[in-house]
Amino acid sequence: MTTTPIPAEADWDRAPTLVDGASTLELTAASCNLQYWFGAVPQGTLRGKVLGHDESVVPLEVTSRPGPLNQALTQELAFRTIAEEKATRALGYMVALAPDNDSMEFYATQLIDEARHAMVFRSHLLSLGVAEPELFDVIEKLAAADRDAVLVPLETLGLEVLRDQGDFIGGVVVLTILVEGVLAPAAQLSELKWRIFDPAAADVERGAGIDEIRHLTVGSSIAREHLQKHPEDKPRVIELITRGRKLWDSLPAADMVLRREALFQEGLDQHADLVGDYEIWPGRRLVDTTVEERVRTAHEWAESMQQKRLVYMGLEEAI
Ligand code: FE
Ligand code: FE
Repeated sequence: MTTTPIPAEADWDRAPTLVDGASTLELTAASCNLQYWFGAVPQGTLRGKVLGHDESVVPLEVTSRPGPLNQALTQELAFRTIAEEKATRALGYMVALAPDNDSMEFYATQLIDEARHAMVFRSHLLSLGVAEPELFDVIEKLAAADRDAVLVPLETLGLEVLRDQGDFIGGVVVLTILVEGVLAPAAQLSELKWRIFDPAAADVERGAGIDEIRHLTVGSSIAREHLQKHPEDKPRVIELITRGRKLWDSLPAADMVLRREALFQEGLDQHADLVGDYEIWPGRRLVDTTVEERVRTAHEWAESMQQKRLVYMGLEEAI
């Protein structure tokens, strides 16, 4: 039996990091259709990793028992699972509005990817001491305030564009530039900083990050092709980006990130011995980093990735 080789960008060991992949690769809806997805994702990236990691990979005891590391990670996962669930539901509109078969198939795969992310972030809470019957209540307790403050306003903007205006390309822009483009680097930071304390969580992030390379590059290529064909839509798209950025400036997202990062720092200080010389990025030991440095680095990744993608989309005026 012959099997199609797994494309490098979806291969667990060969895929680039999220930020590198999303900054440099060019993937399109036509190349990432349903046929591609079946071979590359369920039979590729995720083979043997139904919950996002191998069964033998588990959190360190210091992370699965109550303490600052557990608090930092459970708060993050609870927030992320809600974000992914909201993305999944919004993607239903993208599938419905897609103007051609390639983009319809692509967004159908993205819808399943995001539903999977919600599922793996949620189910990992069970490995961190949350009892299954209480799972949804615990998520509510951990993340309801952040959801209302950060996610609901973004969702409102997305639904206005997609549900109320039926604006497909507006939806692509909200998703690719304003939501995933902003949040992706934080996901990469998460993978790197949890690698030792919870390799299972890091693997869950790694798998989601590989999917995210596809979401960001294909989303950008759909926007690029659309704007080439419809340059008259450019002012409207730029206005939407400006509006979305103003919205972000009004959200308490930085406070939320700093609060979780401070908990992580507390845990890192307590358990520095476990981390040893592990380098969070080349040449920089995790134990030597600070809250500010980690947050600033993720922010810099976001800026540089976003700039490259905007140029690619023909939206350099929005930089
Ligand atoms: Fe996702
Ligand atoms: Fe995504």
